[in-house]
Amino acid sequence: MKIQFLGAHNCESATTRLVSILIDDALALDAGGLTSSLPIEAQLDLKAVLLTHHHYDHMRDVPALGMNALFYETSVSVYATQAVRDALASHWLNGTIYASFLERPPESPRIKFTVVEPNKAITIAGYEVLPIPVNHSAPTVGYQVASPDGKTLFYTGDTGPGLAEAWPDVSPQLLITEVTAPNRYEEFGRRMLHLTPSLLKEELLAFQKLKGYLPPVFLVHMNPQQEKEIEAEVEQLSGELGTSITLAHEGLVVQL
Ligand SMILES: [Zn+2]
Ligand SMILES: [Zn+2]
Repeated sequence: MKIQFLGAHNCESATTRLVSILIDDALALDAGGLTSSLPIEAQLDLKAVLLTHHHYDHMRDVPALGMNALFYETSVSVYATQAVRDALASHWLNGTIYASFLERPPESPRIKFTVVEPNKAITIAGYEVLPIPVNHSAPTVGYQVASPDGKTLFYTGDTGPGLAEAWPDVSPQLLITEVTAPNRYEEFGRRMLHLTPSLLKEELLAFQKLKGYLPPVFLVHMNPQQEKEIEAEVEQLSGELGTSITLAHEGLVVQL
């Protein structure tokens, strides 16, 4: 399984992109930095785009993907919960902000949307995908993705404390989760439902206790302004827990 981090931050600039992760050039997890990262051919080759929740930084590129599908006379397959579909349909793809790609053209919409149910596995292009609810300020599911050759990762999407409730349902060989801010923002993390290194530690200890191992961890959704501080705290945490915890960055490719 080839995991390519296209966007790893919560702010966009010339050097940082919003969260998007590409698996085997086939599946995209979240769509904050897809169209800005991928040549058009690679966009057209995508088998599916899986969205964790309806916050802007995670589904921003969906309208652009729809427009590219229109011009290239194809369609793009998007998977997410009903809450995400409703948000897209009412706020963005509503015929005012942008074209109603979820419904047009009626015989074959540019965006082929499949509603996923939490805790109900589906097969997408040969991958077994399991949406698992996590604790965030909008309805959010993480995705466990198992490839045909038996590799498994779990991407949590945005999450706050309480992520451990997902642990009984997943057994990843690699974990991708978020750390938005450094430890001095722990109170912010508890309130806004994001993680700091200290909050992540509690969740990882719970994982280890339940599962008896810790997978390598890759982090996304960092605030670029605080990244140095986060990095130092994560390095310390990695040493304490004895597992590799890496801040992902745009362009990072990991082979599982
Ligand atoms: Zn969010
Ligand atoms: Zn976010």
